[in-house]
Amino acid sequence: MLDIKWIRNHQDQVREAALQKGVECPLEELLEVEEKKRQLQHRVDQLRAERNRSTAKIAKYMAEKNRPEAEELKEQVRSWNISLAVDEEELGKYEERFKELMLTVPNLVSPQTPFGATDQDNVVVKVVGELPTFTFEPRDHMQIGEDLDIIDVPRGVKVAGSRNYYLKGMGLYLHRAVQQLAIDLLTDRGFTVMDVPLMVREDTLVNAAFFPAGKDQTYELDENKWLVGTSEGPLISYFANETVDLSHGPIQLAAASNCFRKEAGSAGRDVRGLYRVHQFAKVEQVIVCEDDPALADQMLDQITRNAEDILDLLELPYRIVAVCAGDMGAKNYKQYDIETWMPSRNAYGETHSSSSLLDFQARRSGLRYRDENGELRYCYTLNNTAVATPRILIPLLENHQQADGSIYIPAALRPYMRGLAAIPGN
Ligand code: AMP
Repeated sequence: MLDIKWIRNHQDQVREAALQKGVECPLEELLEVEEKKRQLQHRVDQLRAERNRSTAKIAKYMAEKNRPEAEELKEQVRSWNISLAVDEEELGKYEERFKELMLTVPNLVSPQTPFGATDQDNVVVKVVGELPTFTFEPRDHMQIGEDLDIIDVPRGVKVAGSRNYYLKGMGLYLHRAVQQLAIDLLTDRGFTVMDVPLMVREDTLVNAAFFPAGKDQTYELDENKWLVGTSEGPLISYFANETVDLSHGPIQLAAASNCFRKEAGSAGRDVRGLYRVHQFAKVEQVIVCEDDPALADQMLDQITRNAEDILDLLELPYRIVAVCAGDMGAKNYKQYDIETWMPSRNAYGETHSSSSLLDFQARRSGLRYRDENGELRYCYTLNNTAVATPRILIPLLENHQQADGSIYIPAALRPYMRGLAAIPGN
């Protein structure tokens, strides 16, 4: 959320951000509603003050046994109460609409963000690693999974519908190994690693800026509870409405969690295999830091570097793209995606998303810190995937397949894979 005063004074910038992101934001209505709300609030405040003064006077008249004056004033107070009730109701409606409209305002777009409407306009900024060459006909992850009996999509679909799967034996081990590798790496780098609530209140997702835009992607449960699509929401909300201590540097949080997504609007896209599923696991990094743009850039590099180091440990080729404004989430100020080489697609596929949000989430969440002068300020927040699985199993299985049908296990994963250097072929 942006500050309303800032919005009023920088309307062109807000319009430009909405246009670039392809987001509908009724700015004129927002400003009108805010103006009306302010006028009404002023009137209500005046009437309340007048009424309070008169009530005190009535008490005084009554004490002085001056009944006629007291009765006259009581009559006046009664009529004020009637118009106050009307104004308060009207004010409530304007406040409600104001809140709704504020949630439609997107974050700004960083000057470094490329122009563009779709992922075709993203700009490659870094390429790392050699693409594999095979002396045999390589199999895709589905074939490998079936041959090694470690992935079972048909039974996943039978039991849970499309975009579901089972992981078996070494498939489960790999799934957990990549997560534990990421958790260990982040712990070594000073992150507080957490297990978080996955069924959260609507407020949590509004405050973390997933709602209202992402509502159609989210599974609703009973009792106003929603199933999270990423642990970013509960991580950001951990400190909601609190003043955090940043005097020792940024707060680094990470969670390993399951994630649930409806994938509405993806009908027909990536239907085969493990790329786009309804339930997956992710180790997520979240940073809460001071509102210093240079520090935020440094933290964005750092969390991107953490993900790159994990891919290096997994011995996978990848590239980084600067995500263009139109492909970037409405809540993001700057975003880089990491795409890992997927031989069966003969292309890089997105495996990580690294974002800087300035104080957009913090304003909604009431997440603040005190600067060195003791003044309360909204924090900046950032997030990035450390690893998401089973999507990462696609490059892992496909890049590391061997001629004999086995799968090479990178050294860094072996401690979590019962010491195995390879999953034997069948
Ligand atoms: P996001 O939280 O949307 O930035 O996504 C972060 C990462 O989670 C992506 O780069 C993917 O690796 C993974 N991911 C997102 N959606 C899905 C999905 N439906 N199925 C499998 N993996 C996903």
